Amino acid sequence: MPTPWFRRFRKAKQLAVHNLGETWGPAVDSALTKFNILGFPVKLVSEKNKDASQIVVKWSNGSETYPYIDGAKATANFDATKMHGQTSTLTDPKRWEIVFAVIFLPGKVTNITTEQKEIIIIHEFIHACGLDGGLGNGAWDKQGQDHDSVGIMVANMKVDGKGLIEYMPEKNAKAMPPIRVGARTICKLKQIWTDEGCPD
Ligand SMILES: [Zn+2]
Repeated sequence: MPTPWFRRFRKAKQLAVHNLGETWGPAVDSALTKFNILGFPVKLVSEKNKDASQIVVKWSNGSETYPYIDGAKATANFDATKMHGQTSTLTDPKRWEIVFAVIFLPGKVTNITTEQKEIIIIHEFIHACGLDGGLGNGAWDKQGQDHDSVGIMVANMKVDGKGLIEYMPEKNAKAMPPIRVGARTICKLKQIWTDEGCPD
């Protein structure tokens, strides 16, 4: 299940992103621009001041901690040689709403194109916007994580030319870019950012 963001950000329909991408930095900037033209009900803006941001995007070797706000820590524990990052959301325990998110990028992937980096970053941006697999009680669905069966939010992708494609693509599916977004992903974003429901 997706988790809504704290009310103030939900109303503004905007989240500020601080870029600590290092070698991935330019791809973080271009992915942010591309995210904003996908027609989602939330927009991202670039923020130079870390303390004024809601999402920090960080180059990672897959094993580290990063301070959230208020003394809490985000922990990266993933294989940074694979084409998938890790997003860690901090949730207000009184409301189960997200107040901060850290995106760890798979910094150890070799032979990666800018297009592939952008796909990975946009995927993690969508996790950070609330598709975090939260169960609404402080627990997380480690398997599903709000992944989709098609498009940008599939759990596993493989290299196809300069881009990426679903590990098990539908017939006639083409590699991304251009980014394809699954219907479940769109409706989950609408559910938490506009209060429109998802059809079951
Ligand atoms: Zn994912």
